[in-house]
Amino acid sequence: MSSLTGKGASAPVQAFFNRRHRLLIGQDWVDAASGASFAVIDPATGETVSQAADGGEEDVNRAVRAARAAFESGPWRDLKPSERSRLIWKLADLLEAHAEEFAEIESLDNGKPKRVALASDVALSIEMFRYMAGWPTKLEGTTVPISVPYMPGSRFLSYTLREPVGVVGQIIPWNFPLLMAAWKLGPALATGCTVVLKPAEQTPMSALRLGELILEAGIPPGVVNIVTGGPVPGAAIAAHPDVDKVAFTGSTEVGKLIVKAAAGNLKKLTLELGGKSPNVVYADADLDLAIPGAAHAIFFNHGQCCNAGSRLYIQEKVFDRVVEGVAEVAGRIRLGPGLDPQTQMGPMVSQEQQNTVSGYLESGLAAGARALVGGKRCGERGYFVEPTVLVDVQPDMKVVREEIFGPVVTAMPFREPEEVLPVANDTIYGLAAGVWTRDIGKAHRTAARLRAGSVWINCYHVFDAALPFGGYKQSGWGREMGHDVLNNYTEVKAVTVNLDA
Ligand code: NAD
Repeated sequence: MSSLTGKGASAPVQAFFNRRHRLLIGQDWVDAASGASFAVIDPATGETVSQAADGGEEDVNRAVRAARAAFESGPWRDLKPSERSRLIWKLADLLEAHAEEFAEIESLDNGKPKRVALASDVALSIEMFRYMAGWPTKLEGTTVPISVPYMPGSRFLSYTLREPVGVVGQIIPWNFPLLMAAWKLGPALATGCTVVLKPAEQTPMSALRLGELILEAGIPPGVVNIVTGGPVPGAAIAAHPDVDKVAFTGSTEVGKLIVKAAAGNLKKLTLELGGKSPNVVYADADLDLAIPGAAHAIFFNHGQCCNAGSRLYIQEKVFDRVVEGVAEVAGRIRLGPGLDPQTQMGPMVSQEQQNTVSGYLESGLAAGARALVGGKRCGERGYFVEPTVLVDVQPDMKVVREEIFGPVVTAMPFREPEEVLPVANDTIYGLAAGVWTRDIGKAHRTAARLRAGSVWINCYHVFDAALPFGGYKQSGWGREMGHDVLNNYTEVKAVTVNLDA
């Protein structure tokens, strides 16, 4: 392993990366059963900066056993709700105390600017744990007045209990490594579930550091187990007969594999999948807001957002002004390593992702699209791609239909307001959408007709732990965050008492 050279990395982060990392099973950090490990790459340089254990099926079996034992006999599930709250809140406090460190870890591992990681990924993760810390004391059942027509004269008391679903497998992607872990762990901890978490192989580092804080917070051993590695441990979790539920965030393609793998024991499933979100700019929009807003919608996190506003529909009268404005913003974005304070956009997460995005750009340009700005990979080293605005695109082009997951927006004009909804909804996805207009009635009418789990009006990428997030159509099943997510981590038990017994 070459030692970490990332400019600006603090001593604790350097020391953390210079360690060889292991799996968290129960209270122990252990090597993979195979002894194998894989290289962690800094995407800004392409250099190996750490090593993580390459978990396999046997490791998943060990982790599930630890999670099962912690669920059935550990103190976790039967802790007083206020005590579970206190421990989750303590984890949030520890994360806050180490916020700078986590921002650096995300920056080196994923490529995103440290400043952005601090303000969004880390801040939202802290908020997620705090929001979820409020729930253990509020997971109430109901009393239900029942009639039982075939038992005249009988008297019953019926009530419902909300119980944890059990052992949960959580498989997450690389675009917001810490935040995706927080979105998943928060509700599992709040409801009393136990967990086997598998971070993405491109970005295992922040989850491993979080694992250390989870133990430090006093969350009992076995409640959270962490198995690093690629598709093999992911598939083993999805198929495992003793996992009660899988919560997956990633591509629609892998989501479908997980549905098949989960059929063996009919485990519960929630899926947060891909997107190709429409962003609609009407001619009456405040363009001083809409132009930077449309640029932010696609270029935030280098376009590596499942909800990125990647299809920009602009009313014809203002088309030229908006695309030129977005192209100008794109042209000014300063690319560089995430730890450089001047950097506004980092590299793609991996060489594979850089190749995928470049492939889409080549296909679009070959099919007749025109790049107003950008259009290719860039930089001598690292996995950089230029922020790109494509015009002259057709609805059937791959760049319009498929998720690129990079800093590439396709811009298309429409004439009348009623023309835009059918094209905006013409996608297999339904994760998010944007609307820009000064007409409040039109804004709400459009929001109501867009087939998407989140709609932003005169804003974009507004997230909060209290707001549910998830997809229509092939963008997923279920919701993350808000109180809706708790339904996915609990079973409802109906208890009936004979009052005359
Ligand atoms: P991916 O589906 O390739 O990988 C996601 C995770 O699944 C990784 O941990 C990976 O190791 C694991 N995995 C891979 N093959 C598996 C298998 N056969 N069985 C079980 N697990 C397996 O996705 P990615 O490329 O890492 O992430 C990008 C995708 O994630 C994009 O499509 C994006 O839209 C989506 N995403 C969605 C959301 C959301 O909330 N809807 C958020 C972030 C990313």
